[in-house]
Amino acid sequence: MASILLQNITKVFDNKVVAVKDLTLEIPDKGLVSLLGPSGCGKTTTMRIISGLEEPTAGKVFFDGRDVTQVSPEERNVAMVFQFPVVYPGMTVYENIAFPLVAHKVPKKEIRRRVEEVAEVFEISHLLKQDTYNLDAGIKQKIVLARAFVRKPNVYLLDEPLTNVDPATRLELRTILKRLQSNLGQTMVYVTHDQGEALTLADRIAVMNEGRVLQYDSPEEVYSNPRNTFVGYFIGNPGMNFLNCSLQAGESVCIMQARSFSYVLKNLSRDFLGDSEKRELIIGIRPENLEILFEPREGYVPFEVVLSEPIGNRLVLHLRSGEDTLKAKIPRTSVEIGQKVWVGFPLEFLKFFDAQTLEAVE
Ligand code: ADP
Ligand code: MG
Repeated sequence: MASILLQNITKVFDNKVVAVKDLTLEIPDKGLVSLLGPSGCGKTTTMRIISGLEEPTAGKVFFDGRDVTQVSPEERNVAMVFQFPVVYPGMTVYENIAFPLVAHKVPKKEIRRRVEEVAEVFEISHLLKQDTYNLDAGIKQKIVLARAFVRKPNVYLLDEPLTNVDPATRLELRTILKRLQSNLGQTMVYVTHDQGEALTLADRIAVMNEGRVLQYDSPEEVYSNPRNTFVGYFIGNPGMNFLNCSLQAGESVCIMQARSFSYVLKNLSRDFLGDSEKRELIIGIRPENLEILFEPREGYVPFEVVLSEPIGNRLVLHLRSGEDTLKAKIPRTSVEIGQKVWVGFPLEFLKFFDAQTLEAVE
């Protein structure tokens, strides 16, 4: 068991590629933390630095308060699983899973007990005697995960373990991993570019972009209170809508002036603007939080439906009003392309971001 602290970690490859930039992250003991971000944002590099496979250019790594920056991967005792499963050829499934225990000279009886136990968890007991040759990617990844979980490392590091697995096995493994982690009470870092996976698995999500952590919060917080426009856009399906607006002082309330429409925010007092008459902002709202009406009502803004896209039992409407576009998520109903709808922007769901820094404004 271990808590992990990454302190001001920077990693530069070949004196020019900055893969990780001054990253500080605290992973609590027994926590399940997910690193979530687009391809190339530095997730794998961060994992390799935690495991000791990569040395940081600057910064320190602590396990349980002990500086392990110069400690070898073996001594750090981490179990790491990568995106592409590596099974050892010419060995049975049993031998593959038993491998790390054999290497550590664990007694034979104990090995058998632990391999059988973990095989049951991953539902591959019936395959133990088989050769690994010819097994599909999903089964191979189960074997690799079983080989990681048969050990008792300080921390589990899983780097996109389900990316190359078929969707049915992916869901099954997600459930198994969640259960395992809470039963074992072990620290786990889980890398994914799939927000659904991060949102369902993790206690806390570190949203990364360009080598930095942009927000580190619970799934609920990351979803409801994105700290900047990137997080708002990256999380959610589809992501948050953004409108470039100037917020202007009306008689007593604020008026949201977008590029092609204006909207009176009846519940936002002009005090919000302080002494200024006007402030340039980006206003964010989640697609499911827009109010969509199918007939005109005073104060609501007419938009045209340009596309209607079913996602599960919901409909995503792509809407346009002049230069302003929005996506709205509504229950399934019949909507025609070219039809008009009227849009309201409930204040309780509006997020304000600074137009320059793109950071959330309180
Ligand atoms: P992710 O896992 O989020 O996709 P990586 O950590 O693999 O991102 O990569 C981050 C950046 O560092 C990328 O620009 C990648 O090309 C670069 N990079 C990673 N490993 C190396 C390496 N060994 N040598 C040079 N550049 C690397
Ligand atoms: Mg990666």
